[in-house]
Amino acid sequence: MSGAWELYPHPDGPWLLRRGERCYAVDRERASSLAADPGILDAAFARSPDMRAGRRRGVRRWLTILPAGLARRLSAPLSPFCGWTSLATLAAGGAVLMVAAARCGAPIGIRGPSDAAVAWILLVGLNLLHELGHAGALRRCGYPPGAIGLGRLGFLPVLWCDVTPVVLLPSRDRARVDAAGVCWQLGGAGLLAAIGALSGRPAPGTAAVAALVSAGWSLLPVLRLDGYWLLRDLLDADPEAPAPPGAGPMVRLLLSCVRLLQLALLARAVVLAWTLAGAVRLAPSSPPAVVQTAIAAVGAAIIGALVWAGIGRARLLAADLSGISRRARRRNPSVPPA
Ligand SMILES: [Zn+2]
Repeated sequence: MSGAWELYPHPDGPWLLRRGERCYAVDRERASSLAADPGILDAAFARSPDMRAGRRRGVRRWLTILPAGLARRLSAPLSPFCGWTSLATLAAGGAVLMVAAARCGAPIGIRGPSDAAVAWILLVGLNLLHELGHAGALRRCGYPPGAIGLGRLGFLPVLWCDVTPVVLLPSRDRARVDAAGVCWQLGGAGLLAAIGALSGRPAPGTAAVAALVSAGWSLLPVLRLDGYWLLRDLLDADPEAPAPPGAGPMVRLLLSCVRLLQLALLARAVVLAWTLAGAVRLAPSSPPAVVQTAIAAVGAAIIGALVWAGIGRARLLAADLSGISRRARRRNPSVPPA
C-alpha cells in the first residue's frame, strides 16, 4: 500500500480506501488489483468524489479530541454490544435505572464549584461514550471508524464522530449506527444515576439528567443530528425533502408527522427569538440606540430565516397530504377526483 493510503476489506460490501479524512468505496475485484499494484492509487482516485459529501453536510470541524487510531481502540470493546438487542437493552436499562434513582430520591443539583466540575467532566464523558457508540456500531458493521472531535452545526457546538463509511451500509445497518450513540449514552446515564443514588452525591445524577436532555435533543429530527439520520435511514426518505415518488401512504404519513413537529418547533423558536429581543430592548438599564437597532436587525434576520424554513416545511406537508389523498382516491374510485 503506497504512502498514507489504507485499504480495509469488508466481508460482504465494498472495500474501504482511506487516506486521512478522505474515504472511497472500492469494489472487491478492483480492490484486490489495487492491493497488488498500489502505485496506481493516487492517479486512480485523485479526481474521485469524496464520500463525505453525502453524509456530513452542515457539520464544521473545530478540533479532533480522539484521533482515529485511539477512537478505534476505545470503541472496540463497545462493538460486540452494538447489535439491535444490546442497544435496546442499554437504552431501556438506562431509562429504568434513571427512573429508579429518581424514585429513591437521588440528589440532583450543584452545591459548589467541585460539584460543577465533576458533573461537567462526567457529562463530557457521557457524550464521548455517545460518539464511541457510533464508532463501535460502525466497526461491528465491518468498517473502521475515524476520529472523534468537536465542531459546530450552524451555531450549535456538537461532538462529531467520523463514520463516513456508513454510506456503504444497507439502510438497516445505517440506522443501527445512528441509534447506537443515544443508546450507549442512555446506558451510561442510567449507570451514573444509580451511582448518584447510592453515593448520595449530586454530580453523577446531575450529569445523568443533562445527558438525558442532550440525548432527547439529538433525537429531534429538526437539525442534522441523530434523529434526522435515524429517521432518514429507517424511512429511506429525507425529512428535509419531498417524499420520494414511490413512497407509500405510511411513509408519507410519518413524514407529515415529522413536518408538523418541525413546524411546531420553528414556531416555538420564533416566539422565543421575539421574546428575547423584546426582553433585551426593555431591560431596566436600556441599551444605547445603536445596540437596540443591532439587536432588532439580528432578531429580524433570525425570525425571517425561521419563517422561511417554516414556509418550506408547510409546502412539504401539503405535498405529503395531497400524495396520501391521491393514493386514497386511486384505491377508492367512488370518491370523485378533485
Ligand atoms: Zn450521535
